[in-house]
Amino acid sequence: MELEFIRWLNNRIAAHPGARLGIGDDAALLEWADRGDCVVTSDLLMDGAHFRLEAGDPPKRIGHKALAVNLSDLAAMASRPVAAFVSLALPRNGGLPLAQDLVEGMLPLAEQFQVAIAGGDTNIWGGPLVISVTAVGMATEHGVLRRDGGRPGDWLLVTGALGGSLLGRHLDVEPRVAEALVLNDQFEIHACLDISDGLALDLSRLASASGCGAILEAAAIPVSDAARQLAQRGDGRSSPLDHALSDGEDFELLFSVAPDVGQKILAAQPLAVPIRHIGELTDEPQLWLRREDATLEPLAARGFEHQ
Ligand SMILES: [Mg+2]
Repeated sequence: MELEFIRWLNNRIAAHPGARLGIGDDAALLEWADRGDCVVTSDLLMDGAHFRLEAGDPPKRIGHKALAVNLSDLAAMASRPVAAFVSLALPRNGGLPLAQDLVEGMLPLAEQFQVAIAGGDTNIWGGPLVISVTAVGMATEHGVLRRDGGRPGDWLLVTGALGGSLLGRHLDVEPRVAEALVLNDQFEIHACLDISDGLALDLSRLASASGCGAILEAAAIPVSDAARQLAQRGDGRSSPLDHALSDGEDFELLFSVAPDVGQKILAAQPLAVPIRHIGELTDEPQLWLRREDATLEPLAARGFEHQ
């Protein structure tokens, strides 16, 4: 099956200028500019944990997600995607069409962000589908963004709206690659990450990497329509804000900047997606949520915890 899959891939995937040598040899060759760092990230997605084939998640959307979550990590570092390597552990039945559908789901995204699918591996086994994608990106002349550069007093800004990804967005991930490149090109960003496991949990990671704490303003957090819908269905157990704080798989950018830079970004709104000011980094290590009536309560770093 592997030979047939590779033959199909070679017909399906056009030669890419970023990959001097792609699928078919022992290893790939990537064309590299001589200035920037190489940024590498990897994600493992397993049937039953990150998607559910039996419940009807379409393989093409799963393929899209597998590549998109990796591109989101490259975006978090403000690097330019170059290539992706896709490895599949396929179930015994229907392995070839499944592999083809997964790749078909990746190709529009690969084209959009000019990513070469330059290699990988496939195996067949008695277990469920497992997808491993490794993505390689190139730092730009502005360097990369990291999560440890935040400073006390920094404004916390976020793109888009948060919460409710279970209603579909967790499969239709839109990596903020172009947005991160624009931000890093035009403004001095101190720290950045992509929200994969929930605003509260990922904020705790940014704050602790930066040696800070944080205060979030409840009224300022952009709550998605999907978060409101989920809250309605949940019989009031979780509010829309709870969903926005801890659902995860938003894949929006959370970043910190000096207050004067934050004011410029809010005035310019340089992206197609809105940017909101949701809080500040603080000296003290704790996380707080300021409610609309100005009361402060401790913010639990809750979100999607990987097993
Ligand atoms: Mg990330």
